[in-house]
Amino acid sequence: MTFSDFRSDTVTKPTDAMRRAMAEAEVGDDVYAEDPTVRRLEELAAERLGMEAALFVPSGTMGNQIAALLHTRHGDEVIVEENAHAFLWETGGLAWLAGLQTRTIRGRRGVLDPALVEDAIRTPDVHHPRTTLLLVENTHNFAGGTIQPIGELRRLSQAVRRQGLRVHIDGARFWNACVASGTRASEYAACADSVMFCLSKGLSAPVGSMLVSSRERIDEARRLRKVLGGGMRQAGIIAAAGIVALQTMVDRLAEDHRRARRLAEAIADRPGLALDLETVQTNIVVFRVTKAGEDAASVIAKLKAEGVLASDNARDIVRLVTHKDVGDADVDRAIAAIRKVL
Ligand SMILES: *Cc1c(COP(=O)(O)O)cnc(C)c1O
Repeated sequence: MTFSDFRSDTVTKPTDAMRRAMAEAEVGDDVYAEDPTVRRLEELAAERLGMEAALFVPSGTMGNQIAALLHTRHGDEVIVEENAHAFLWETGGLAWLAGLQTRTIRGRRGVLDPALVEDAIRTPDVHHPRTTLLLVENTHNFAGGTIQPIGELRRLSQAVRRQGLRVHIDGARFWNACVASGTRASEYAACADSVMFCLSKGLSAPVGSMLVSSRERIDEARRLRKVLGGGMRQAGIIAAAGIVALQTMVDRLAEDHRRARRLAEAIADRPGLALDLETVQTNIVVFRVTKAGEDAASVIAKLKAEGVLASDNARDIVRLVTHKDVGDADVDRAIAAIRKVL
């Protein structure tokens, strides 16, 4: 059986144009800063966000962890939304690598209330850790691919920066947020001291993410990438695909958003699940399994038998992600399978 794979946008295969660019890429040793293709990708990323510099890293996780190391000192406190990827799904890296204590706050569909965040910032006191970083996820994966509205993010960012915090955007799906909301990348970037975005998710590159910030911070980030073992040699081979991703794969994300919306609307009325259509803003559909005797694992197994692959976000939460390698026929198949199972 061939599967319609909605587990994640990370399963996307590189395009023919990417494979050609990879085959023909000019390369050098990037640890010596001699890879012209990596340099081009880093310049392109910085330019797109209106920031000074960028660093090519092997994964989004490494980009987020470098940012945490960059903006904080061991023993500081970081504020994150309680279902943030960096808190839930990065193997405890904030504590393990950066030595941070994590203060979690519940958001509304992944969006934090500035008043609650301000309340959580520690005052100077010998008993308190220093709160030095706010980490914002855009789009918010667990919440269902929800967008940080630029007006709200500006208010939040101003509020915490006034108190000396830095702001990092975990933008694994940053371009989905830009395309779906019509917000310019530079407007989001202006709210942050650093932004990480993935090339390897909806943009369909095989490997890699970008960390974007000021020149000075990126110079330091390069050292941090090395200590984490992320210095790569002829990385232009993969950076070449990243350039194609940024140049040609951003606008088409709108198609993924349209398909996610159609999928969600077609299943929202099923009695065996609970789906908040307001969360379906980009390419992710999440729903809670409410049917008696079922949980995410059992539903995922039944969908698989119908040829549809999905993933779970929690014991009772199923996630489907649209991307370049699932088309309208795959969406029809997913709708039919879910309507059969739930
Ligand atoms: C996937 C993801 C990451 C991590 O990216 P990897 O390249 O898989 O390490 C970080 N944050 C969010 C929100 C993600 O969805």
